[in-house]
Amino acid sequence: MARIVQVLLPLPLPEAFDYAEPDGMALEVGDLVGVPLGQRRVGGVVVALRDGAGHNRPLKPVLAKLDEPPLPPGVLAFIAWAARYSVDAPGAPLSIALRGSRTPKPRPERRLVATGVQPGRPTPARSKLLAAAAEGPLSPAALIARAGVSSAVVKALIDEGALEVVHEVIAASFAEPDLDRPAAPLNPSQAASARALTALLAAGGFQAALLDGVTGSGKTEVYLEAVAALLRDEPQAQVLVLLPEIALTQAVLARFEARFGVMPGEWHSGIAPPQRRRVWEAVGAGRCRIVVGARSALFLPFRALRLVVVDEEHDGSFKQEEGFIYHARDMAVARAKIEGALVVLASATPSLESLWNAETGRYRWLKLKARHGGAVMPQIDLIDLKATPPEPGRWLSPPLVRAVAQALARGEQAMLFLNRRGYAPLVLCRVCGEKLTAPDTDSWLVEHRYTGRLVCHLTGFSMVKPKTCPHCGATDSLVSIGPGVERVEEEARSLFPDAAIAVFSSDTVIDADAARGLIRRMEAGEIDILVATQAAAKGHNFPNLTLVGVVDADLGLRGGDLRAAERTYQLLAQATGRAGRAERPGRALLQTYAPEHAVMQALQAGDRDGFVAVEMAEREAARLPPFGRLAAVIVSGADPEALETYVRALAAAVPNTDNVEVYGPADAPLALVRGRRRKRFLVRSDRTVDLQAFLGAWRARVRPPASVRVTIDVDPYSFL
Ligand code: ADP
Repeated sequence: MARIVQVLLPLPLPEAFDYAEPDGMALEVGDLVGVPLGQRRVGGVVVALRDGAGHNRPLKPVLAKLDEPPLPPGVLAFIAWAARYSVDAPGAPLSIALRGSRTPKPRPERRLVATGVQPGRPTPARSKLLAAAAEGPLSPAALIARAGVSSAVVKALIDEGALEVVHEVIAASFAEPDLDRPAAPLNPSQAASARALTALLAAGGFQAALLDGVTGSGKTEVYLEAVAALLRDEPQAQVLVLLPEIALTQAVLARFEARFGVMPGEWHSGIAPPQRRRVWEAVGAGRCRIVVGARSALFLPFRALRLVVVDEEHDGSFKQEEGFIYHARDMAVARAKIEGALVVLASATPSLESLWNAETGRYRWLKLKARHGGAVMPQIDLIDLKATPPEPGRWLSPPLVRAVAQALARGEQAMLFLNRRGYAPLVLCRVCGEKLTAPDTDSWLVEHRYTGRLVCHLTGFSMVKPKTCPHCGATDSLVSIGPGVERVEEEARSLFPDAAIAVFSSDTVIDADAARGLIRRMEAGEIDILVATQAAAKGHNFPNLTLVGVVDADLGLRGGDLRAAERTYQLLAQATGRAGRAERPGRALLQTYAPEHAVMQALQAGDRDGFVAVEMAEREAARLPPFGRLAAVIVSGADPEALETYVRALAAAVPNTDNVEVYGPADAPLALVRGRRRKRFLVRSDRTVDLQAFLGAWRARVRPPASVRVTIDVDPYSFL
């Protein structure tokens, strides 16, 4: 009997399916195949092959072996690991890994080749053309340009059979990085860190390092040097650099291009399908050696991945919260382990998890304590909003307004930072008190003035701002409560009518081009005041930006999130770190109602280590990450009764395991989204517990009815 082929499909199925291998197909593990599933034909990947002898179940045959490069063993192992870690079906990460293959293949292009047939009437133009064609297949346009002849000559030679039209698929290629270009000389601590990274690369096998350097210390220069050393020593080696935002990938792509003279492969959701296909194929064939991208780049079919850099590793955007739930930083470490590669986590404000791994010696800890080239850290001052409040209906306090005016008077730039998109986070009716929300959803509608719409940032619902209250019908009763960046911009315009003001948020910077444009205008000094959300708070270097004003430093501290203090510290340290990155010293002002809060005090004193020590002690006492494990189980459904019954059954079925506590069920903070009610359990365990096994076993005990969805979020970042 033919062999049995185990095929994993990119679908939410618990396991791979068996098919029969047709005679002569000669499949191998990793091959992409088309198989029947019910009435459909679906694409999947071969994960195992075994002898069919003694097997008497009739199996459907594999329909076709696809003309695609196979997935390398490292990717298959990574998919299996990722699925187990996230307690999800392996088809979920596989679906991400196959994204590149789902985009259309490049179409064959017309090429002209010389056939060897001599033209009847040789002329100088014809000879030139044949000489050019002899050098290799060229497109008609390229051939005409190279030979300097007219298209009539080309046509004549085709008619006479001296030239032939062929159709070729042009293999995706990326130019080899130029390793001989001059690089900026590293300062002594940069050089020491770069040497340590090259030593780890030379040692081989899985290695991990935390590159912990203050904003502006030159972490990028350090890892560029390690990349250069690796590419020089190992001609096949591939490198992946992960960034949390598309806007940041643009800046880092430019740094790579400047350093190596070639553009790396770029991979994120904003890439057009043909480009995506090109990168996917070239990475799989080993023809693209450097990839800069967002989290899903981790699933690319690298053949010889030797170095993974996770830049701004603390950033919460690395956590994918929808579909397949994963944290790209943690998954990067896992993939590096599978590939035997070096993973470098870089940040000025590392996550507590990574700091703990560095403290306990699991990661090599490399520190850059000073900014490069004598630039000093910004001076940070707190503005107590109780003592010096803004005028009613305004958001900028007198001391901040004065500081902006002074910066502008010196010809320098200012940034007003508020991590809130839109004009106002809440619209309510003055008459009936109703807070406007999206239909069947708990979260507030955010007013956007540029578009004149009310938008639900959670569900994407939006509507034109109504004239009357949808609840009580009162006219002109809707008031905008609180500020977003658009409102701060409005206030800045009225205060500084002559200044050039721009807004940097995901609404104004919608793609890579827009990001490049705004960054260029900032660098060129065409903008005086940048009003920005976190989209601009990290990574960028604006040499003439000397003042950062944080409009609402307390914003992230509200809500009972495990990481509220840590995240607020990181975000504000990054935002204030944009100030004074070149010759001119920088200053940052934080508007706060809680100047005595530990986060504000640590920011003012520049005492990151002190803050981390206190935060670590609190986590340790509560046995929370990194000292314990955490998972959220969200159960949602549109039918309240079915939901309630299921949740009760699930609560009664908690496996009895030592060192695991299950809290809940409780209404999730967002208790209603798109008409579905949401209940939440939180699970805490010691680090010694196999939390994934616990969660898998628990879920398997009670099958949910069709109307109920169970989502497991291992290591949750969002507690909504
Ligand atoms: P970080 O990533 O640590 O915030 P960057 O690598 O972006 O820092 O460096 C900050 C700025 O300093 C950049 O403009 C960079 O070009 C410059 N810089 C850093 N190191 C050097 C160096 N050794 N020589 C010249 N310029 C440097």
